[in-house]
Amino acid sequence: MTVSVPALSAASADASFEKVQLERRDLRPDDVRIDIRWAGICHSDIHTKREEWGPASFPLTPGHEILGTVLEVGPEVTTHAVGDVVGVGCFVDSCLDCAACKDGEEQYCEKGGVGTYGVQGYDGEITQGGYSGQVVVRDHFVVKVPDAFDESQYAGVTPLLCAGITTYHPLKEHGVGPGTRVGVIGLGGLGHVGVKIAAAMGAEVSVLSRTDAKKEDGLSFGAQHYYATEDESVFDELAGSFDVLLNTVGSGIPLDSFMGLLARGGVMHNVGAPEENLEVSAFSLLANRRQIAGSMIGGLPETQEMIDFCAEHGVTATVEVISADQVDDYYDKVVSGDVRYRAVIDTATLEA
Ligand code: NAP
Ligand code: ZN
Repeated sequence: MTVSVPALSAASADASFEKVQLERRDLRPDDVRIDIRWAGICHSDIHTKREEWGPASFPLTPGHEILGTVLEVGPEVTTHAVGDVVGVGCFVDSCLDCAACKDGEEQYCEKGGVGTYGVQGYDGEITQGGYSGQVVVRDHFVVKVPDAFDESQYAGVTPLLCAGITTYHPLKEHGVGPGTRVGVIGLGGLGHVGVKIAAAMGAEVSVLSRTDAKKEDGLSFGAQHYYATEDESVFDELAGSFDVLLNTVGSGIPLDSFMGLLARGGVMHNVGAPEENLEVSAFSLLANRRQIAGSMIGGLPETQEMIDFCAEHGVTATVEVISADQVDDYYDKVVSGDVRYRAVIDTATLEA
């Protein structure tokens, strides 16, 4: 028997979100049913719903930053129990058998991992995401929320399920720690969490935001320096001065100008996913033997490691809690870079 739960759903790229009832499947032996308390709005939800990445599957309930409580578990589930506080990120299934899955990088599953919303699962059903009252997820894809977080922090813990792991992975991959000069480009949902995590890793962190509007906040998140890149003199002043640049911007940026900020052997790590191509001249790479890299979120073991790290270091996202009725407006606000710094839906407001 399926369970009917309240949700927000869009009928097309241009349509507003409507309150609907969504069917959640009956539990399979390795499933976990989660009562969703908070759901973050990631810019990827907006790219998807507005079909900026190509055709989307409608009706669509987005949401891949999910936090809630376990309501029920299937008979084979041993890792989660009723009452546990848990999170779900960008994937809800993968083959768990290929080299990528065996390496704990389920997001690169060779069979094709199943995204949390808007894609066909292995059972043929289209997945629907976190802007809803409940979700049913295979146990492997459920993350434990550490006890060190208390309930008052849960809204801020929610964005760690995507923004947290997406920024933690590259920072760790590039060995960020004391003495590393890290520049975070764009102080939005991902960027502000990236600043907090890089600071917790002990790095010397700079914010590279378009304007000075977020300066006080950027410094309060743990950055030592803050630069407004609308002032082009910044590119001369900071030439060759970063080991790692983390680009979190969701639209095209003049990447060559930013590449010039990298020191010898420095790396530009791109996690932003704009519809436009990123263009770099060969000489931006040759000079100072610079590198350019990218990654998609992170695997499940690393997501658990990230959330444990954040609990240990007191890192949570800075959020605006919003109601279901505000989601359309907040999509526009996210695009204009005006959210401080992640919008999180209070799912208690989903009932029609
Ligand atoms: P967001 O909250 O909108 O933040 C992006 C920030 O980029 C804005 O706050 C703004 O910061 C800056 N920005 C926006 N428009 C800009 C423009 N035209 N030129 C320069 N800077 C601009 O978005 P998000 O949720 O952090 O996501 C960021 C991107 O990462 C999106 O493309 C998203 O799809 C992608 N993403 C990728 C992964 C992955 O696995 N790789 C995971 C999640 C999200 P300032 O105001 O400070 O300039
Ligand atoms: Zn996301």
